[in-house]
Amino acid sequence: MLQLKNIYKSYITGGSRQIALDGINLKFRESEFVTVLGPSGSGKTTFLNIIGGLERCDKGDLIINGKSTKEFTDSNWDFYRNNNIGFIFKNYNLIPHLSILENVTIAVSFNGLSKKEKQEKAIEALNRVGIKDYMRKTSQYLTKDEMQRVAIARALVNNPKIILADEPTGNLDSKSTIEIMNLIKEIFKDKLVILITQNPGIAKRYATRMITFRDGEVIEDTNPLKEDLHQKEISLKRTHMKIYMAIKLAIRDISNKKLRMFFYVLISSIGIMGIALIVALLQGFNKQISGYENDTLANYPIVINKVYTNYSIHNTSQNSKQNQNDLKNSKLNTKNDIIYSYNSSQNSTEHINQVNKDYIDYIKQMDKDLVSEISYESQINMNILREDEDGKVSILDTSTINLSSYPKDYGQETYLEKNYELLYGYYHTNKNEVVLYVDEKYRLDTNFLNELGIDVKK
Ligand code: ADP
Ligand code: MG
Repeated sequence: MLQLKNIYKSYITGGSRQIALDGINLKFRESEFVTVLGPSGSGKTTFLNIIGGLERCDKGDLIINGKSTKEFTDSNWDFYRNNNIGFIFKNYNLIPHLSILENVTIAVSFNGLSKKEKQEKAIEALNRVGIKDYMRKTSQYLTKDEMQRVAIARALVNNPKIILADEPTGNLDSKSTIEIMNLIKEIFKDKLVILITQNPGIAKRYATRMITFRDGEVIEDTNPLKEDLHQKEISLKRTHMKIYMAIKLAIRDISNKKLRMFFYVLISSIGIMGIALIVALLQGFNKQISGYENDTLANYPIVINKVYTNYSIHNTSQNSKQNQNDLKNSKLNTKNDIIYSYNSSQNSTEHINQVNKDYIDYIKQMDKDLVSEISYESQINMNILREDEDGKVSILDTSTINLSSYPKDYGQETYLEKNYELLYGYYHTNKNEVVLYVDEKYRLDTNFLNELGIDVKK
């Protein structure tokens, strides 16, 4: 099913040519567990990246189903990767601002399933790797071993025929290493697994075939394939990622910058503009990121809002103990139906962008080749009245409560139903209704609660 024919790859660094692969000839079976050994710099990662379609060789040919890939277009490669390859990396490569479930769900974004079906697949994969809790939290709450389990679920979810793992246990202690290796072996038992490891003991224990690299060449292959067996076909047709998925990812990115609101805009004056540039970021994006992440991010919108608020201090790793505690608390909260308050301005910095006519003119004359689409959004101030218990009516200061709109609905489910869990009440049905969003720790901003006239208990 997969064959490397005289693959040659070199890099030019600082004026000199470095040969990474020097004529590799290998054939793989439909189902085998191949471990790849070799000193650092011997070409193992380059080899794996070429098989996975993350890099192209200089000379030679990668043969898939007996067909040459020499004439492959970028979209041929994309399809090959998305539908046939599962990647597992040493550094997990989870997208930090997405939940664990979303990290897995984005891997099934390419084949026209409904959102529910995709989630079911993702949950099933997460169950198989033993991750049941924490699914809606981001990966910062996980141990290294758990992160690698999520990455395995992500590799598993499309049921790929080939699993490529680059030192998947390189960051794990020996106990976790055994657990993760057992899991990979068990879960992908009928697949072609090609796994790089620095650990000869591990290589021997799990492999049905061991390949050793040195200086860009294969110096040992314990179980080479000679005959041309009838092999299972690798699919090479095309699909498209839905634009909606790209937009949703961006929405999640913004919502992570807290308060879980769409287009984080403070509506403090009339006519505030938010500008979204949807820029093709494919080029220059870190190659180590796996194929489908790369593709998903290709249409990642850059959003420029009037106000940008940075809450990064919440999410630093030093705070992860704190986060663990918060997480435990937040679990309690749901049981008791308690929403907690927090002061969002405490750990944030704010930047006001000057979005004026000059700036918009500048955006409009940008090189169209760099941008696949530009959209503009303007919003107006809302007058909201509040009635206190004693009947006193006053105007809300909308600059302290972050009002925002959310996008039109796609398909049958509404935007809210798709992206949020209902904690209390009902999904709104009328235009004059308001939805309160809490963040993933079930919190609302203290200023916001005060502005609504709700006394916050200390
Ligand atoms: P391994 O994974 O076995 O450590 P690699 O495949 O990463 O080896 O690297 C093989 C050789 O190619 C090394 O000499 C390395 O420096 C070089 N190399 C790999 N990737 C690049 C790159 N992107 N740019 C320049 N040189 C590279
Ligand atoms: Mg390497």
